[in-house]
Amino acid sequence: GKIVLFISSLPYKCPPGPYEIMLLIDQYFRQRGIRHKVKLTVVTPEKSPESLAGPKISQKLRKMLLDRDIELITEAKILAVEKNALILDHDAKIPADLLLGIASHWTPQAIRNTDLVDKNGFIKVDPFTLETKYKGVYAIGDAAAIKTPVMGAYAPKAGIFAHMQAKVVARNIASMAQGDKPESYYDGKGFCIVNTGFGKGCYTSVHYYKKPPTFSFIRPTKVAYLVKTGFEKYWLNNWF
Ligand SMILES: Cc1cc2nc3c(=O)[nH]c(=O)nc-3n(C[C@H](O)[C@H](O)[C@H](O)COP(=O)(O)OP(=O)(O)OC[C@H]3O[C@@H](n4cnc5c(N)ncnc54)[C@H](O)[C@@H]3O)c2cc1C
Repeated sequence: GKIVLFISSLPYKCPPGPYEIMLLIDQYFRQRGIRHKVKLTVVTPEKSPESLAGPKISQKLRKMLLDRDIELITEAKILAVEKNALILDHDAKIPADLLLGIASHWTPQAIRNTDLVDKNGFIKVDPFTLETKYKGVYAIGDAAAIKTPVMGAYAPKAGIFAHMQAKVVARNIASMAQGDKPESYYDGKGFCIVNTGFGKGCYTSVHYYKKPPTFSFIRPTKVAYLVKTGFEKYWLNNWF
């Protein structure tokens, strides 16, 4: 059959997520010995996979998908979803037995109804302190309208960035509560390990406030996979 995974619009949560899902689906069918019976396709509005991570990482990811026989359709404008097909502009119709969609990313109505937001409904903040236009009111994570200074696009929306931003805001609030000056600043750094399947993962990191931004992408290793699963276990055991 045909499995099509599509990204509805930009920005979306967790830039490597959709590619990771497809790599794991590929692993699943290979391990069952029926990969040759399944066609896998990723459809994205991005110019190239994970384009926010820069051309080198995009190129590496593109090659990884090619090596795993996963078709990639970029710069796609998704118009509709039918029962067994994805409808794109230019009358393109992609047949599918299973459609997996990354829904459009929005902020809640309660936020969009305020005067805190930009034209797309994300909350405008100081990129270093995460403070909104109202003193003492902050926004972090997916709802914040942080842009990459060089590319001008929304910065990647992922848990790691929300986490780093939360630390900055929490530290500054704690400092002010003690009568000190807030001196913590968000620096646009983040990292992630992409599960590429077969017990391996790719360590990637970004520093998107740097001019030009820097990115790294280390080939899939077992160590990275173990770190990823360890990280997940740490959070699940210690925080939930
Ligand atoms: C499938 C998937 C995989 C991902 N994998 C990764 C990963 O490996 N690494 C990574 O870094 N990131 C990953 N992400 C992205 C990550 O989950 C998000 O970027 C992160 O959760 C953002 O945190 P947040 O606190 O800004 O928003 P959220 O986690 O979305 O929290 C917002 C909260 O607000 C609540 N809320 C919404 N509206 C209202 C309202 N009106 N009133 C009250 N509460 C409201 C919601 O219920 C929610 O609990 C993934 C995302 C998905 C969907």
